[in-house]
Amino acid sequence: MVEIYHEEDGDLSFLTGKTIGIIGYGNQGRAQALNLRDSGLDVIIGNLEDDYKRIAADDGFAVYSIKDSTEKSDIILILIPDEIMDEVFQKDIFPNIKVGSTIVFASGYNIGFGLLTPPEDNDILLLAPRMVGIGVREKFLKDEGFFSFVSIKQNISGSAKETLLALAKGIGSLKKGAIMMTFRQEAELDLFNEQAFGPAFGKVLLSSIYTLIEAGYPPEAVLVEMYMSGEMAYTYKKMADVGLIKQVDFHSKTSQYGAMSRGIRFRKLSLKPKMLKILKEIQGGDFTKEWERKLTGLKFKAIKYFATRQKINKIEKLVRKNLKLKLHDIYDAKPPTKEEKTKLRIISDELKLFEQYFE
Ligand code: NDP
Repeated sequence: MVEIYHEEDGDLSFLTGKTIGIIGYGNQGRAQALNLRDSGLDVIIGNLEDDYKRIAADDGFAVYSIKDSTEKSDIILILIPDEIMDEVFQKDIFPNIKVGSTIVFASGYNIGFGLLTPPEDNDILLLAPRMVGIGVREKFLKDEGFFSFVSIKQNISGSAKETLLALAKGIGSLKKGAIMMTFRQEAELDLFNEQAFGPAFGKVLLSSIYTLIEAGYPPEAVLVEMYMSGEMAYTYKKMADVGLIKQVDFHSKTSQYGAMSRGIRFRKLSLKPKMLKILKEIQGGDFTKEWERKLTGLKFKAIKYFATRQKINKIEKLVRKNLKLKLHDIYDAKPPTKEEKTKLRIISDELKLFEQYFE
């Protein structure tokens, strides 16, 4: 049985007298720091010397270097990007952790896939909000809460669970609920959502857009219909609020009948075999290995550049201008250099497939 924790399961007094060090004052760092402080806890920040550090100081926090804040903290929340976490951890955090300190991650990726080896003598916890940083703050202020996935990798103190649930309460998650799982499961779910659901949904969206534009509808109307109105986002929110099928009641009878009767024609999209393959690659660690390879960095640069050069971007740019919406410059990505293009030749077939995705 899965364990799910709520407000009554967390006791903030467990953190009384403890200093919580937030390493990284970005999306999650700022939101979690403000929430924990508003919950009456003692929070300090560790960051590099730059704009984020200035924002933290302007928010009224005591701000230190990563090394110093690690030394001062009883609980260390590591809220820096996953890609650079191991390097920063080994250099600035690991050598300065106090005996008995608790280390908390917000993503299971590095520990789950064995990319970062944590110290053996400290409690190692996961507190991963299912919410972007700005949402973590907004939901806290509205007293609504947000879901999170939590895990205990090492319980050296014997009280790791109390610490974890108190922190989950402090950031505002227990108002909604914290679900216990492993670091690896959290990472795998996250990757699956990004790699299977996201691209499949993107392809459906693109196919709908091109079907309508090729049939002669004004691109402005098509993009508004498909996503720019925000109506779909609202529908998604209603799925969370009342249920996947129950939200159908918010639409007209014509809409309900049309969607359900035509829906059966899409019953054989054969998405599951592709999704299962992606899941197997994630579970087996193949994706993680691929992401760690040097050539992958180059491939990522190339596909990100190509992504900004597809037909949909040009359509959207014009539509946004005509609708007087803010224009964002997505064309500032640097193209691969001549030398990089030579290196990319061995994956040229794959890059062609990538372009087909956008057709
Ligand atoms: P951000 O990209 O917002 O983190 C930025 C912070 O990391 C800044 O303080 C930045 O400082 C610091 N940082 C970046 N590079 C370095 C470096 N080389 N050395 C030291 N500090 C550095 O990260 P997120 O808040 O998005 O993610 C933090 C953690 O939370 C990750 O584990 C992520 O998986 C997890 N998470 C994120 C969610 C999200 O919605 N964003 C949701 C749930 C979990 P500076 O710029 O000064 O270098």
